[in-house]
Amino acid sequence: MNILMVASEATPFAKTGGLADVLGALPAALQSAGEQTAVVIPGYRQNQYDGEPRIAYRSLWVPIGPGYLVDIYQASERGVTFYFVDCPPLFDRDGIYGSGGSDFADNHLRFAVLSMAAVGVARYLFRPQLIHVHDWQAALAAIYIRQHFGNDPTFSGVKVLFTIHNLGYQGIFGPEAVQQIGLDRRLFNPEQLEFYGKLNLLKGGIAFSDAISTVSKGYAREIQTPEYGFGLDGFLRKHGPIYGIVNGVDYVEWDPEHDPHIARNYSANDLSGKRECKRTVLEEVGLRADAGLERPLIGMVTRFAAQKGIDLIAEVASRLLERDICLAVLGSGDPPYESMFQRLAQAYPDRVAVRIGYDNALSHRIEAGADMFLMPSRYEPCGLSQIYSLRYGTVPVVRATGGLDDTIDEDTGFKFRDYSGDALLEALGLALEAYRDRVHWAAMMRRGMRKDFSWGAVAGEYLALYRRLLEG
Ligand code: ADP
Repeated sequence: MNILMVASEATPFAKTGGLADVLGALPAALQSAGEQTAVVIPGYRQNQYDGEPRIAYRSLWVPIGPGYLVDIYQASERGVTFYFVDCPPLFDRDGIYGSGGSDFADNHLRFAVLSMAAVGVARYLFRPQLIHVHDWQAALAAIYIRQHFGNDPTFSGVKVLFTIHNLGYQGIFGPEAVQQIGLDRRLFNPEQLEFYGKLNLLKGGIAFSDAISTVSKGYAREIQTPEYGFGLDGFLRKHGPIYGIVNGVDYVEWDPEHDPHIARNYSANDLSGKRECKRTVLEEVGLRADAGLERPLIGMVTRFAAQKGIDLIAEVASRLLERDICLAVLGSGDPPYESMFQRLAQAYPDRVAVRIGYDNALSHRIEAGADMFLMPSRYEPCGLSQIYSLRYGTVPVVRATGGLDDTIDEDTGFKFRDYSGDALLEALGLALEAYRDRVHWAAMMRRGMRKDFSWGAVAGEYLALYRRLLEG
């Protein structure tokens, strides 16, 4: 099967979040399973290339906005062909989605050009049977194919799967954007693109794709409810079923047995190195290892955003620190959350350490060195850190929502359901209680470490869904 994916980011070229990891790993896993897979992403200034990409198509005319002549470059990564849409006026900038804390005002044009160029890739470079579009930035590919290329044989019999990685980001623009991106005003109605007087590209992706999926079964259910639906729950119910497929983990990158970032490697069969990892990470973040080593160390690595449940931590911080624990936090994001954590570290200098910023190596060392990993998310489409934690023998304490609920069970971690500080404290209390019984605790660590969330199995689930679409 020829599968063409369209997205706004992919590792190792450009990454701001988990979406890029999926686009780096899933196509490679599909390729390993014997399917021809290609990916279209923008040629951002930030893209990291291992060697020069080569020209694949020169001067593709993209009739969006003022009209753009774009070049398509290509590179091969793990057997997958990546196509880069080179359009300097739109992508040669000092940010991927925006700069200085605000989104670029012409993001609708930027991602319309990405989507229309992807249609060009399908017509001239890589003929797909299945087109897999990701998030609102690629939703227009589905819309253009169905609206503008209905009679083009390239797309006859071709199916489009739309995957929602986070419903909190919908691509909402003023109504004037509809014509700017080359769409008929008549599509601006509540059954297609209109959302409370605005253009909603994610909604368009839902309306024009053949099937919709998201990144866990739990989140697939939740987004069809008013509580988690961001105003689109009814629309999603109408366009269902919504398929849920949990993301995989790249165990080349995330496995304590051969992780180059950590102080000592360890495995489920020999946990001894983990204590050394704890000692060194305590020192690295400035907590005293002599006192800290015996206390449970709770780790957090997260974007500081409302989605991640940081306000719950703020609510219970002093009660949390009544317990004899240490806390190591790495993250960045909303300034009020950053200062909340910094105040906490000042108030408890021996037991709380906070690092503000993005630091991949330190995130590995926190995963390895911590005893528990805390994720109190308000909502979580899939979540990756808790799956890494399982492999690192770092017992997750999570809110039972979306992918967190799907990937963690009573055998491998602790969950709380209510979004409240009390519920969080109760779950953490149970975890601290369990931690005292070292034999049982080690057994729980090992159960988590032996779980397998590798991409091979996930690719199999996507393939089954693709086949179902093509047959149906
Ligand atoms: P989301 O995509 O919503 O941020 P995920 O759990 O799916 O959440 O993925 C987050 C990824 O980003 C994980 O790999 C996590 O380790 C990483 N991460 C988040 N914040 C940081 C940070 N400050 N430094 C290093 N890695 C981070």
